[in-house]
Amino acid sequence: MTRKNFIKNLITLGAATPLMTSLFTSCNRSGFDFFEDFEVNFNGNVLIIGAGAAGLIAGHILNRYNIDFQILEASSVFGGRVKKIEDFSDFPIDLGAEWIHTEPSILGKLLNDPQTDLKTDAIVYNPQTIHLWKNNKLKKRNIFSSFYSEHKFKNSTWYDFFDQYIVPGISDKIVYNSPVTEIDYNSNKVKVQSQDGEIREADKVILTVPLTILQNNFINFLPALPSEKTEALNQVSMPDGIKVFIEFSERFYPDILLFGNIIEALRDESKIFYDAAFQKDSDRNILGLFNVGDSAAAYTSLNTEQEIIDKIIGELDEIFDGKASQTYQKHIIQNWSKEPFISGSYSHYDDYDALETLAQSINDKIYFAGEAYSSDSQATVHGAGETAYKVTEQILKG
Ligand SMILES: Cc1cc2nc3c(=O)[nH]c(=O)nc-3n(C[C@H](O)[C@H](O)[C@H](O)COP(=O)(O)OP(=O)(O)OC[C@H]3O[C@@H](n4cnc5c(N)ncnc54)[C@H](O)[C@@H]3O)c2cc1C
Repeated sequence: MTRKNFIKNLITLGAATPLMTSLFTSCNRSGFDFFEDFEVNFNGNVLIIGAGAAGLIAGHILNRYNIDFQILEASSVFGGRVKKIEDFSDFPIDLGAEWIHTEPSILGKLLNDPQTDLKTDAIVYNPQTIHLWKNNKLKKRNIFSSFYSEHKFKNSTWYDFFDQYIVPGISDKIVYNSPVTEIDYNSNKVKVQSQDGEIREADKVILTVPLTILQNNFINFLPALPSEKTEALNQVSMPDGIKVFIEFSERFYPDILLFGNIIEALRDESKIFYDAAFQKDSDRNILGLFNVGDSAAAYTSLNTEQEIIDKIIGELDEIFDGKASQTYQKHIIQNWSKEPFISGSYSHYDDYDALETLAQSINDKIYFAGEAYSSDSQATVHGAGETAYKVTEQILKG
């Protein structure tokens, strides 16, 4: 989330270490070229596996070109790692992706539809009070606010973008509760089997499931995935991830709270508390916890939600002199590591050759889209959308 622009700005200021550079180049070079209209040389049918950002955008494009397609989604909802809760507070809360990690104009590019009047409430997100918990002391690091700038939605969410602009045109093409368990690409047509035994056939398959689903061999491929793909899968990780939102009767926390050495905190990502109501039209005090990476296991691996919230309140009490337990009202936990059909946060690569290998289609039949395959904006919603544009263009051009 916030790390990316912090790092970009640190680099601009010359304050970044060389270690940061690789992280930065992996994340957030903004923008990509969407295709213009072109001659379509494909009139077969397509099965899209997964109704997250990539699957929905792929369906949106195929629909525009009147291609016969279906989206098979394992869970009972669309969105994947884009998910919201309406009734926790007086503003909708993103339980997964929350920030727009590039210019908000990306929303219009993702929609790519001049006929639709896109209305978004994207704002500049520039937290002013940035504190650091280090060596058992709370330190002000507000100086970072002067070169901190991200974007987010004011009173809507990433989920609302899909719900309002992408899903209505394709909702009748989404088949829910249909986890795909086998993909047989031995013959001319690809045969896709769901857990209930139903087999569907397609000329092309766009696979958008999270990396963990492939790593855990949830889907049986016939023939098996090429060995270079399985080797590449072993070189990438999708570590733990959790978001927690807690309502307090008082606001006792800064806009952002980081931990340890500030440069390391930004470089390693990991754990940030933030005022989730900051710049929202809200009278409520909602503190968010974002924790992705190895350190998130301290929460995600706990057995019950009570243990998770007790641990968090205990930590906040230590930092803020007991204020957390004194003013606690309620909470919501989204443990992405334990979310069925997701099982983690987002892709982390040490070796970007692995990304290229993983993104390659197989036999012009199985195409891969999703955040993990974006070379420019990996680990983001718009990066997932970008890959959907790439693979549908390949399919449509024939
Ligand atoms: C905690 C957290 C915070 C984040 N914050 C941000 C942020 O602020 N900004 C941002 O841009 N990005 C953020 N991201 C990343 C962003 O959410 C993802 O990059 C993006 O949503 C991934 O989209 P996707 O389509 O690649 O995958 P997913 O959204 O995971 O979609 C894949 C879909 O496939 C389905 N599926 C799985 N297995 C099967 C199967 N066998 N058969 C059928 N369907 C299956 C899943 O149910 C899911 O719906 C965050 C992610 C996390 C976890």
